[in-house]
Amino acid sequence: MSETFRAMLIEDQDGKPKAAFRDLTFSDLPDHDVLVEVAYSTVNYKDGLAITGKGRIARRLPMVAGIDLAGTVVESRSPDWAPGDKVIVNGWGLSETEWGGYSRYQRLKPEWLTRLPEGFALRDAMAIGTAGYTAALCVAALEDWGTIAPGGKDVLVTGAAGGVGSTAISLLASKGYNVTAATGRPETHDYLRALGAVNFVSREELAEKGGPLQKERWAGAVDSVGSTTLANVLAQTCYGGAVAACGLAGGFDLPASVMPHILRSVALIGIDSVMAPQAKRDRARALLADHLGRTSLASIAGVEPMHKLPELAADILAGKIRGRVVVDLE
Ligand code: NDP
Repeated sequence: MSETFRAMLIEDQDGKPKAAFRDLTFSDLPDHDVLVEVAYSTVNYKDGLAITGKGRIARRLPMVAGIDLAGTVVESRSPDWAPGDKVIVNGWGLSETEWGGYSRYQRLKPEWLTRLPEGFALRDAMAIGTAGYTAALCVAALEDWGTIAPGGKDVLVTGAAGGVGSTAISLLASKGYNVTAATGRPETHDYLRALGAVNFVSREELAEKGGPLQKERWAGAVDSVGSTTLANVLAQTCYGGAVAACGLAGGFDLPASVMPHILRSVALIGIDSVMAPQAKRDRARALLADHLGRTSLASIAGVEPMHKLPELAADILAGKIRGRVVVDLE
């Protein structure tokens, strides 16, 4: 192991968070029980906010950015983990309150680690990453709601060509749901069709302010956009349907009314991946293992080197990234 290794840190510069590559030593790392050699991390929307400084994600500085990681245990003071174990970490405050994945080595709490599922490579795990796992939490929540049947009326996925959206489409289609993709990028239609979308609506159509109760179009929806889009999606959801909302790519406000909820029994289900309990994580991982085909995964994710993080962060906020980006830490 080399004495120093590269990491991306968010530091305080004149009272503002600023990202920079730094060389760290092992003594710089937090004193947690498991040392992991990180092979891959990813670029999620939240990472884009942290790296560009457009969102205050880190709650203490300096902070190693990167909300997730996949790697191999090098040292462990925990009986649960041994050198050589392949592990994944999603959430648990990484890049917010705990040092995250953009570092060749990281020390982590044993309870944050999940064993890499059989048959998966570390790179696959990060191709799924937090966005894919959040998509699975959304699909599981819709299934648990109990009114949305495969083969029935369409399930809508907003932010379709993004990381959450692409994975949600693939999972829903593989389970037999009819999927409508809402995207602002018509050039991604072929990609989304290959993942399983059968119908399309434009991002613009859903972003225009509409009435509190509109024509019933969707049995359910996965929304990663928020704001007016989510308000319209709720107003267009069929009687008894449900919308799993996880994101704010279009804004964090919600200019909506109670009408869909009190007149159509529509449910708005909030999805958080960061502090999700292990049982929900296990359920999501099982869904991904059973229903996310390798071909889909390969088409969803590309791999980029760590030094491109600043560029990739700007791209994800500009909505230019299709699917997922895996970051190679080697
Ligand atoms: P991506 O950037 O990969 O995807 C977001 C997609 O939203 C874009 O690809 C684009 O899709 C669409 N979009 C972008 N900007 C706008 C806009 N201004 N108005 C409407 N649509 C827009 O991000 P992720 O998939 O990684 O994350 C999606 C959202 O989910 C983010 O807000 C993220 O913070 C949130 N998230 C929440 C989690 C949780 O625990 N609750 C966990 C993971 C993510 P298209 O081009 O197809 O229109």
